[in-house]
Amino acid sequence: MQFENSLAFARKTDGEDVLRAFRDEFYIPEVHGKPCVYLTGNSLGLLPKAAEKALKDELEDWKNLGVEGHFHGKNPWFHYHKFLSENTALVVGAKPSEVVVMNQLSSNLHFLFVSFYRPNASRFKIIMEAGAFPSDMYLVESQVRFHGYDPAEAIIEIAPRNGEHTLRHEDIIDAIETHKDSTALVFFSGVQYYTGQVFKIKEITEKAHSVGAVAGFDLAHAAGNIDLQLHDWMVDFAAWCSYKYLNSGPGSVGGVFVHEKHGNDSSLPRFAGWWGHQESERFKMLKGFIPEAGAAGWQLSNAPVLSMAVHRVALDIFARAGMKRLQEKGRMLNAYLDYIIRESKEGNPNLKIDIITPAYPERACQISMLTGENGKSLFDHLTAGGVIADWRNPNVIRMAPVPLYNRFEDIYRLGQVLASF
Ligand SMILES: *Cc1c(COP(=O)(O)O)cnc(C)c1O
Repeated sequence: MQFENSLAFARKTDGEDVLRAFRDEFYIPEVHGKPCVYLTGNSLGLLPKAAEKALKDELEDWKNLGVEGHFHGKNPWFHYHKFLSENTALVVGAKPSEVVVMNQLSSNLHFLFVSFYRPNASRFKIIMEAGAFPSDMYLVESQVRFHGYDPAEAIIEIAPRNGEHTLRHEDIIDAIETHKDSTALVFFSGVQYYTGQVFKIKEITEKAHSVGAVAGFDLAHAAGNIDLQLHDWMVDFAAWCSYKYLNSGPGSVGGVFVHEKHGNDSSLPRFAGWWGHQESERFKMLKGFIPEAGAAGWQLSNAPVLSMAVHRVALDIFARAGMKRLQEKGRMLNAYLDYIIRESKEGNPNLKIDIITPAYPERACQISMLTGENGKSLFDHLTAGGVIADWRNPNVIRMAPVPLYNRFEDIYRLGQVLASF
């Protein structure tokens, strides 16, 4: 498509967008009395209007039924997680039995590490990206220590080459090869939170398996964003949060994937809780943990229904929009954003910005821009101009046009604000 930096072009393209009606299903925050240009759906997705009723329904059942809501509610709370499995599976390319919605992301990763990071004297290393999201650094470090190993020896971080901002896939593969006899786990994100780089999950998993290691992924920035085929790619385990691209509200419940090749392996160690116990026996309150089949067997606590009610309607939107159509539109929006950034830069020497996100296919919704010494004032200028973007220390502005609710007009307006810096 031939892009133009004009309102007429942006509006015409929005008019032809088959997904344009979905924007009306969300509340768009206002700045100065006008809908803002919201480019932080990668950080906190917007509120789906349907969430209000979904929450109210559960509160009504609680109000009217009390504890009976577990079995006699409109959506019985006893097996509430099942209402989310099918649409979760669609988002991550899994079988419904391979996913479960529970807890939150960092906690889930710890629980998954219990099962899938099984170091021994010869195989104890974890290969991961340098500059991973802080929670991932802390959890890996603490897991390594918990098993009695030294993080300096056990954690192999792969960094960009000198003068580069993102990882080369071949460097990831080479690192796995170098540590092939000592690696227990290869643990990567799906989309790097800082640079927006999309990692090749399938190839990383294949390489990990070829050396006898396990492959696990943090999909915080990938779920609801990129094409995921976790089942076909033979990924061992993954976890993600629901409040970024999945629009399920601050701190909302997380998602977990356990490949079916592990799902029924009751010999895998795990930290158990009553909600992961065989459902038919759960309320017999007997000794002796017997896991539910599949990912559901990793549950611990009873379902946080209020949070899941929101997640449920948010997932329903994804099922209706379809991941494939979302990705197609996302790619176009991102390409337009790229074009508008470059257009705005031309002829405006104040804009000292460089895109560090690699090109498609190593790119999805997000573009990260390295800023010069006036980066923070550029960011403040964007905010004052009604653009909600994201500042990450030391010097990056992240922007994510989200295909469910962002328009080409948003990108055009961003360009006008950039140009006036
Ligand atoms: C957002 C994010 C998290 C957040 O973890 P919570 O447990 O949900 O607070 C963790 N890892 C990555 C890669 C993230 O992007």
